[in-house]
Amino acid sequence: MNRLTFNTERCKGCGLCVTVCPKQILELDVHQLNSKGYHPARITDQEKCIACAMCATMCPDCVIKVEKDV
Ligand code: SF4
Ligand code: SF4
Repeated sequence: MNRLTFNTERCKGCGLCVTVCPKQILELDVHQLNSKGYHPARITDQEKCIACAMCATMCPDCVIKVEKDV
């Protein structure tokens, strides 16, 4: 399975990744705050990720790492 990991502490909750994901499986986690006081991005359904890396490309803070299942 493709895998996404988030460096949550770097996230500033800008939502760019949420906007660009073609599968609409990213969201800001309103139940969590990082040490900067932002709601960090999270993935809602890992199985639907196609590892296109649009989210990682868009993120201005290099929060997201995408690993493609080979
Ligand atoms: S790699 Fe593509 S499909 Fe997967 S979460 Fe990021 S933008 Fe969405
Ligand atoms: S684009 Fe990056 S900084 Fe912005 S919400 Fe997504 S992971 Fe966080």
